[in-house]
Amino acid sequence: MQATVYKSTGSWYVVKTTDGETFQARMKGIFKKNEDITSTNPIAVGDVVEIVPDDSDANAKNAMITEIGQRRNYIVRSSPHGRNKKHIIAANLDQAMLICTVREPRTSQGFIDRFLVTAAAYHIPAVLVFNKKDIYRAKEMEQFEAIEALYTEIGYPVKLISATEKEGIAAIQAILKDKTTLMSGHSGVGKSSLINDLIPGLDLRTTAVSGWSGKGLHTTTFAEMYDLPDGGCLIDTPGVREFGIVEIEKTELSHYFLEMQPYLSHCQFNNCLHINEPGCAVKEAVEAGEIDPDRYVSYATILETIEEEQY
Ligand code: GDP
Ligand code: ZN
Repeated sequence: MQATVYKSTGSWYVVKTTDGETFQARMKGIFKKNEDITSTNPIAVGDVVEIVPDDSDANAKNAMITEIGQRRNYIVRSSPHGRNKKHIIAANLDQAMLICTVREPRTSQGFIDRFLVTAAAYHIPAVLVFNKKDIYRAKEMEQFEAIEALYTEIGYPVKLISATEKEGIAAIQAILKDKTTLMSGHSGVGKSSLINDLIPGLDLRTTAVSGWSGKGLHTTTFAEMYDLPDGGCLIDTPGVREFGIVEIEKTELSHYFLEMQPYLSHCQFNNCLHINEPGCAVKEAVEAGEIDPDRYVSYATILETIEEEQY
C-alpha cells in the first residue's frame, strides 16, 4: 500500500497511509545497494513510498518500505559527510517558507538569498516570513521595510508576524492551507513557536536564544512532517545552517536570481558569469540601480562557493 514519509531518522521512518494509518517502517536491504550514491539519505520526508505491513508483532505497527516513488522535486543541504554529497532535506514540496528575523538573531541577506536560490533551482515557490515584530524598534522596522520592498519587487511574498503575540498568524494559515510546505530557518528565529501557533496541541519545545551570541541552540535533528488542522502539511526542518547549492552549474546561477533573468540574454557572451566580462548587461543593471547591489553581492559570493561544493 502507498504511504508518505512523515519522519526519517536515517535508519527507520514514520510513514502514514492515505487512510491515516501510521507505521514504523524500515527500508528493505536491497535499496542500500542501489541507493543514489550522491545522496546520503535514500528516503526523505515527503517521499511517497510503497509499504508492506509486517504482521509478525500484533502489538506494533511495523512495515517494510519496498519502493520509493519518483520525486516531483526536493530540497538539499550539503551533507555533513562531505561537501560533495547532498542530503535531501525533504521531497515533493508545493512551497518553501523561510522564517527570518531582523533582531535576535538577525537573519543575513546572504542566508536568505541562498535559500531562495535553492528553492528556485528546484522550482519551488518561496515565501519569506519575518518574526518577532513585537521587538522591532524603529531602526529594525525600517530594515524590515527595505527588505520587504526588495523581495516583493522581485516577486516573493513577504509577511511580518509575531509568533509569541499571535499576530499575523491567519495570513500564514492562508498561505499554508492545502499545500505541503517546507518550513526552515536559523535556530532561534521562532519557528517552533510559530508551528505551535499553527498546530494546537503539538507543543514543540522552544528554546531561549542564548544571550551572549544571539544565536539559538540546536534542538531538532530530523525533519518531520505534520498535518495542519485546516488541511495541508508542514515539514519542520532542523535549524539549517546552509542550504546546498549542489547540482547548480555556475552558468545557471543567475537564472535563480529572478530579477536578473530579463538581462541575461543581453550579455555579450552567452556563457557570461556576470563578474568581469565585457558587455555584461547584469553588471550594467546593478550600476544603473535596477538590480539591488546586495543581491549582486550574494550572487558573486554564491558563485565563488559553487566550485568547492560541486562533485
Ligand atoms: P526556533 O529555534 O526557530 O524553533 O525558535 P523558538 O520557537 O524556539 O524561539 C526561540 C526564542 O525566541 C524563544 O525564546 C521564543 O520565546 C522567542 N520567540 C519566538 N517567537 C517570538 C516572537 O514573535 N517575539 C519574541 N519577542 N520572541 C519570540
Ligand atoms: Zn553578464
